[in-house]
Amino acid sequence: MTGNNSVDVVVVGAGFSGLYAVHLLREQGLTIQGFEAGADVGGTWYWNRYPGARCDIESLYYCYSWDEELAREWEWTERYAAQPEILAYANRVADKHDLRSSFIFNTRVEAAEWDDQAQQWTVRTSDGQTWSARFVVLGVGALSAANIPDLPGLANYTGQIYHTGQWPHEGVDFTGLRVAVIGTGSSGIQVIPKVAEQAASMTVFQRTANFTMPAHNTPADPELRAEVVEDWAGVRQRMRTSSYGLDVQPPTESLLEVPAEEARATFDRKWQEGALTAILQAYNDIVRNPEANDIAADYVRDRIREMVHDPQVAEDLVPSGYHFGTKRPCLDTNYFDTYNRENVELVNVRRDPIVEVTAAGIRTEQAEREFDAIVFATGFDAMTGPVLSIDIHGREQTLREKWAEGPVGYLGLQSAGFPNLFTITGPGSPSVLSNVVVSIEQHVEFVADLLARMREQGARVVEATAEAEAEWSDHVQQVAGYTLYPHTDSWFMGANIPGKPRVFLPYIGGVGNFRAKCDAVAANDYEGFAIS
Ligand code: NAP
Repeated sequence: MTGNNSVDVVVVGAGFSGLYAVHLLREQGLTIQGFEAGADVGGTWYWNRYPGARCDIESLYYCYSWDEELAREWEWTERYAAQPEILAYANRVADKHDLRSSFIFNTRVEAAEWDDQAQQWTVRTSDGQTWSARFVVLGVGALSAANIPDLPGLANYTGQIYHTGQWPHEGVDFTGLRVAVIGTGSSGIQVIPKVAEQAASMTVFQRTANFTMPAHNTPADPELRAEVVEDWAGVRQRMRTSSYGLDVQPPTESLLEVPAEEARATFDRKWQEGALTAILQAYNDIVRNPEANDIAADYVRDRIREMVHDPQVAEDLVPSGYHFGTKRPCLDTNYFDTYNRENVELVNVRRDPIVEVTAAGIRTEQAEREFDAIVFATGFDAMTGPVLSIDIHGREQTLREKWAEGPVGYLGLQSAGFPNLFTITGPGSPSVLSNVVVSIEQHVEFVADLLARMREQGARVVEATAEAEAEWSDHVQQVAGYTLYPHTDSWFMGANIPGKPRVFLPYIGGVGNFRAKCDAVAANDYEGFAIS
């Protein structure tokens, strides 16, 4: 290791978390060094360049709220902006606030070690440098560690291999190719219709059918934009105190208490809205009560059957075996209609499992197919993966050791034994169960306020107490237990990664409740944090 670089704060990642962290902390007069593995800013929107990638939270709300001037000036072209436009937005933010100058790009943070005597972190980067920093802020993203399943024979495959989360910047031309897509989560449902339009043939390998609903994406509505910009403070306040970080009021009615025809009419209306939580949040018991959930699920299933011509393919595409919404729901554009195309085939790998990848393609129990390219839309080692990809040594142990049975931490922001280290969108935070930009802003602002308070007090070290961490971690699981989510094998539960501990990873108590808790903690002298 070489180098002798010293700053107040190392920020890891130049996505929405890292960019805002650099902006706020630099404004406080702290010296910052940011590191980003990619060649430029944008995080998720830098890496996920697959055809069809777009946000599924309306763009008017899926953007920073702290820069009102930019909110007034920026005009999204679509209701749900596509990846290039969101990346352009991240670039605009970076340009406007000169954020790039605080980052070293193409450089990974590989390790961080706490020095108890010097009361600082020693950070090692992939270019062989070491940095000392009093604080480390991990803005590494919750869905950034790509997962490619360890399929037998994969190393022997001679065709092209892609993962949606690591898409080549120059794009991929699938014209005339025989393409396999594995995975039908949010990324799969977006990439599949686009690849189908180009490829000679496409075979989708589906393990779990998905409750996805049409996004009804449209060009941006100028009137709605004007309303939102006009009521900027109000919209912002409602998003911040809501359940999911959206300007949507929580439902008050129980599905089980309304007549079936009324529920059907409501669902019809909600279906037309094309919003991620429209059906899930139509009534207050859908995420909690299996009977209510079944009614909503059956509604979506019926709609899927209507869209797919071949009855067997339709049945394979109808989700079953888990509660609606407990795997993250998706919004799509022409997803089910894609299966009506002549050049598209669906393989249900629960009925016909993948045996191996051969040199030329994929062999299932019932057939062998040749492919020129395989697209893995197989997701991520969510929430803990990006954090644990860094070798973090705290006071007494590594974070990998500490989280061996699942992550524990306080407010998703700190883990006891790892002083002055913060995770943004960490496990135990609402992040991935919300409009993540709203959560990111709250997490970053909490950390910035805390550091400001420490400076006022002349304090050097902050660390979550073991008691506060145990209590919060129990609370995260307890609140999840009030819902149907923990009953499902999902990435929320760590179930998509073989061997990963089964723990409900995000905080499902809602963005507003989380904010209230954090505000109370801050008002109470940062209760649960030992500051010295
Ligand atoms: P994902 O939701 O984890 O989906 C991965 C898919 O791959 C699932 O269908 C999974 O099946 C399948 N799979 C995994 N391993 C497999 C194997 N060995 N054999 C066969 N199939 C396998 O990942 P994702 O689609 O990338 O989405 C992850 C999250 O990123 C989303 O939930 C969302 O939060 C975010 N995202 C958002 C957007 C957006 O805003 N529009 C777009 C993309 C992603 P199982 O279900 O059976 O595990």
